[in-house]
Amino acid sequence: MKISRVLVIGGAGYVGSHFSFFAGNNGLKVTIMDNLSKGHRSALRCSEFIEADLLNYDNFLKHLSDNKYDAIFHFAASCLVGESVQDPAQYYKNNILAAFNMLEAMRLTGHDKVIFSSTCAVYGYPQRLPLDENHPKNPISPYGRTKLAIEWMLEDYNVAYGIRSAQLRYFNAAGCEPDFGLGEDHKPETHLIPNVVRFALKLSDELTIFGDDYPTRDGTCVRDYIHVMDLADAHLKACSKLDEVPMIRYNLGTGRGYTNLEVVDSVRRISGVDIKPKYGPRRPGDPAELVADAALAHENLDWKPTRSDLDSIVKEVIKWFSLCPQGYPN
Ligand code: UDP
Repeated sequence: MKISRVLVIGGAGYVGSHFSFFAGNNGLKVTIMDNLSKGHRSALRCSEFIEADLLNYDNFLKHLSDNKYDAIFHFAASCLVGESVQDPAQYYKNNILAAFNMLEAMRLTGHDKVIFSSTCAVYGYPQRLPLDENHPKNPISPYGRTKLAIEWMLEDYNVAYGIRSAQLRYFNAAGCEPDFGLGEDHKPETHLIPNVVRFALKLSDELTIFGDDYPTRDGTCVRDYIHVMDLADAHLKACSKLDEVPMIRYNLGTGRGYTNLEVVDSVRRISGVDIKPKYGPRRPGDPAELVADAALAHENLDWKPTRSDLDSIVKEVIKWFSLCPQGYPN
């Protein structure tokens, strides 16, 4: 079935806004729903915007009763591992309760296709690398647990009510579209690439690398960076795939890992700034290495990352922060 009208929940956030831009460019009519708690009004790329929260169930049920969407893309979530340990209640509410509200409203209004942002945090500490989808799931943070619990909900809702779902386990989302006014803007920023770039551009005065005694090639953690526009492409392909199969779960990554120091080195080479980070203790809950085996998505979706080369990502992020040093205007 050719889809034409989609609802993007969390479309003002980092991954959701890039997806909405991509979907619009591919001819879809995009409605975004976002509570703007973390998202940005200037990141909206849609034909219709609804400022609303999934936690307001009655409101959402009415909206789905009055509107028919071909598919729902669910990006909205609390998504920081460390924060989830400090404040798990926020994660159980914003992730699990919100997803439950969404699924209930979908079930009652006959919406039967959802594309869900999951995470490699469902695996916990790797027992083997690269991580394939069948690797045991032992999440070590409330964040990872909430995402895994939602995957189970989706499975049960498929069996019992026929709701079809794509569950996409992102590795490290990175990169942006600075030429189109889209970038990464979290406050506070906790992610490595924007933190290194902001330090190089003197937008922040401290850069700490968390841990230098990991069993990796240079002692720092290894991560698999996947461009947000490659993620967007996989989302549309996954949505089409749901016409053939009722439920899919795929890793989205490149299969190639970079150490934290290799990221610093890339920013150093591209910016020309001699960055000297400090070293701090390990960040709790950080596995030494997270690299995807994304063969399933590559084969079954006919998907291949085309923008996830680290140096290209770093160039874009430098451009974004040069154009918008304080992030989005609002
Ligand atoms: N990291 C770091 N300094 C920072 C931010 C992150 O050393 O200012 C490290 C972090 O400990 C991890 C890697 O960079 O080893 C990637 O972290 P990020 O928060 O970007 O993504 P995550 O892997 O947690 O999703």
